[in-house]
Amino acid sequence: MATQETVDHKYVYDFAEGNRDLKDLLGGKGANLAEMTNLGLPVPPGFIISTEACKAYLATGEEPAGLAGQIEAHLESLERGMGRRLGDPDDPLLVSVRSGAKFSMPGMMETVLNVGLNDRSVVGLAARAGGNERFAWDSYRRLIQMFGKTVCEVPGEEFEHALDEAKRARGTTDDLDLDADDLHGLVDAYKKIFLKHTGRDFPQSPREQLDLAIRAVFESWNAERAVLYRRQERIPADLGTAVNVVAMVFGNLGPDSGTGVAFTRDPASGAQGIYGDYLANAQGEDVVAGIRNTVPLQELESIDKRSYDELLVIMARLEGHYRDLCDIEFTIERGKLWMLQTRVGKRTAAAAFVIAGQLVDEGLIDLDEALHRVNGAQLAQLMFPRFQLDHGFEPVAKGVGASPGAASGKVVFTSARAVELAGEGEAVILVRRETNPDDLNGMIAARGILTSRGGKTSHAAVVARGMGKTCVSGADEIDVNVPARRLTVAGQSVSEGDVISIDGTTGKVYLGEVPVMPSEVVRYFEGTLDPAEADDALVKAVHRIMTHADAARRLAVRANADTGADAARARRFGAQGIGLCRTEHMFLGDRRELVERLILARTDTERSDALAALLPLQRDDFVAIFREMDGLPVTVRLIDPPLHEFLPPLEQLAVDVAVAQERGEDVAKEEALLAAVRRMHEENPMLGLRGVRLGLVIPGLFAMQVRAIAEAAVRVTREGGSACPEIMVPLVGAVQELETVRAEAEKIIAEVVGDSGVEVLIGTMIEVPRAALTAGQIAEAAEFFSFGTNDLTQMGWGFSRDDVEGAFFWRYLELGIFGISPFESIDRDGVGRLVRIAAEEGRAARPGLKLGVCGEHGGDPESVHFFHSVGLDYVSCSPFRVPVARLEAGRAAVETAGSDSR
Ligand code: PEP
Ligand code: MG
Repeated sequence: MATQETVDHKYVYDFAEGNRDLKDLLGGKGANLAEMTNLGLPVPPGFIISTEACKAYLATGEEPAGLAGQIEAHLESLERGMGRRLGDPDDPLLVSVRSGAKFSMPGMMETVLNVGLNDRSVVGLAARAGGNERFAWDSYRRLIQMFGKTVCEVPGEEFEHALDEAKRARGTTDDLDLDADDLHGLVDAYKKIFLKHTGRDFPQSPREQLDLAIRAVFESWNAERAVLYRRQERIPADLGTAVNVVAMVFGNLGPDSGTGVAFTRDPASGAQGIYGDYLANAQGEDVVAGIRNTVPLQELESIDKRSYDELLVIMARLEGHYRDLCDIEFTIERGKLWMLQTRVGKRTAAAAFVIAGQLVDEGLIDLDEALHRVNGAQLAQLMFPRFQLDHGFEPVAKGVGASPGAASGKVVFTSARAVELAGEGEAVILVRRETNPDDLNGMIAARGILTSRGGKTSHAAVVARGMGKTCVSGADEIDVNVPARRLTVAGQSVSEGDVISIDGTTGKVYLGEVPVMPSEVVRYFEGTLDPAEADDALVKAVHRIMTHADAARRLAVRANADTGADAARARRFGAQGIGLCRTEHMFLGDRRELVERLILARTDTERSDALAALLPLQRDDFVAIFREMDGLPVTVRLIDPPLHEFLPPLEQLAVDVAVAQERGEDVAKEEALLAAVRRMHEENPMLGLRGVRLGLVIPGLFAMQVRAIAEAAVRVTREGGSACPEIMVPLVGAVQELETVRAEAEKIIAEVVGDSGVEVLIGTMIEVPRAALTAGQIAEAAEFFSFGTNDLTQMGWGFSRDDVEGAFFWRYLELGIFGISPFESIDRDGVGRLVRIAAEEGRAARPGLKLGVCGEHGGDPESVHFFHSVGLDYVSCSPFRVPVARLEAGRAAVETAGSDSR
């Protein structure tokens, strides 16, 4: 039973009651409509049903108590304000019913327009439109179509077939050639379709239409495509959508009416200017669906100068008010401009940087705020390569550069085929005439998206930009034939499976695979492009924001690098040291034989001979790295993986030995190898003889590495350089393990270093849960901790890091057990808690203990924020991710300083 409290709960808000800060409650669209209303802009009147009402409906399957009455009251006030009533046969009020969640989910949820039309009010609408019967019947048929499809799940193709049939009968392919009689006939046909599929007549009661449409919008929050989109965009599943009920204004009343979309700056490049699309004599969904090709917004100036000028004034006002790029939907009804939506616009990664820089120049935001407005994922996108076009590649078509990037792949024409081929590891380009929300799966699977219709604001463009996926839209020289699985362009035919390349920056389309070259942003990071000389606004903006991030951040950023070349690259990318030098690869290649000798040694002498032969090689490895990292710390990790990984695989060796024996060959060596492999075989090698355990079992192994590190450091220092080695012991679970290794290492270091002035730190990885939980003890024997979050996640969750992602993570993601793989982004609650405990207890035992992370999470934007909050000193990641980590560390610092607007 409803309590008094729920009865009184406020679920419906007039536009004048809201503002842009109420997105949680009113959704993004509603909150911004309210904001524009309060700014005095021409917004058609309306009201918002809150996300709370949606959540209550979804929880119980029924409208919450009090909602119906509140809708009634707001509807009456809307009717009074407009001087019209819903369903009035003489002069009806019509409303649109639109979804609007906190985060924009373009096209993923439902909208129903023209609610309030029925067999009687359609006549009144024609009279109100100055006797324009065509318009009235067109509006009515749109209502039945949208309502049927979204509210009652009538298959959309049936309406489309009926529309095609009407056009065929009239001998045209253009909707605009249908006259009032044709459309009246179409309404009758649509009604029959409706009856056939629902078993009832199309509802004539406007209030019933309204209530059912509101319900359908609520329910569309859980539609499959919306769920998928949220998962992809990491939008929480429990936010619900608001519903906006707005008085209809009409862009399809004739040539002095129209509808459009505008951006206050170019959402693709960030360039200042007027960007957008306009479509005369049309309703909003025609533009977004890309059904008819639009004209550039500038052309509105010659079509309707007064509205155009007013629009420019409003755009400037909105941009100043929101201090950001805004995107706008508007309609002109008989020369009167109406604003239907605004929001801070989605933009490409490049535009995000460029716009943030411009807004600083314009004094609208400061540099801290500019840092907020960009993120590491965008920076990573800018580091992708571009097409290299000096190989004689000529474009075969040009569309709109809707979402930048360079993508090559096999052509597919359906979403299902895109998913299938991508699942087999193929790169695919999804080619469609236009996309619709049902294509979402295919868009996610594809490397790039190409459409032959639609502009920068078409569904394909908006969704691809949101996902950071390359997209070319509206390449209208391309004729797409989906049933034949073929496209034709420039007299050539391209079939499913043929390779094409698309450039989402220029909009150009190429046949075949175009080679790629490094991005300018990478050239800037590598130091081969001077930002002062670059005439590229993007490079300048990146430089400026990175400089601020570096000044703001508290976390240092190091790189994981195992060779001199990697170390050099990492340094160019801004690494302040090496956080993890894995030494195991140094035991491969032509050193394999020495390692085999070590493993197969039967006597102490054999073993020490093998180690003695490895020592100078290891020393040279470290000399190269210390030279590159002159003056910066280098954490060298002693050998970690089980030794049998350095031997041939058991099955292969067994077969080889058997075959050789059969042939009567001398296989004594191979037999010894096989016996060793058998001896060392482990059921769970990841939990077996590796890391510190190996160091404690194979005498002299760690000692050789420690000696090589110390000798290399001394040599580089004697050359006049400065080596700062940090020796790191892997897989420690108990302080006694570390103490044993440490005691031996200290002796060797003292002996080698002498009076050279070299200082060698000794620390440990924290990657076994027990180490995290006994960090206070371990800190007594460690000068630093480096969190190995790969193993800590593996052992914290009990997930085999090599198996689970392919085996069953898809199901865990589907069930929402986690929103992203814990190997990609740190699990704050569990594994993150282990990190926090170890950091706190380690520092309590040894104030000033140096703390870092060197697992993959060190380069993950979300995780960097977490490590900042835990108080680590540095993150370490692969060289290519160093700039991303620098940026995110700067953002984390600025956010904790208090100006959080994420
Ligand atoms: C880790 O476990 O996080 C780590 C850095 O070590 P590796 O990935 O080499 O096991
Ligand atoms: Mg590890």
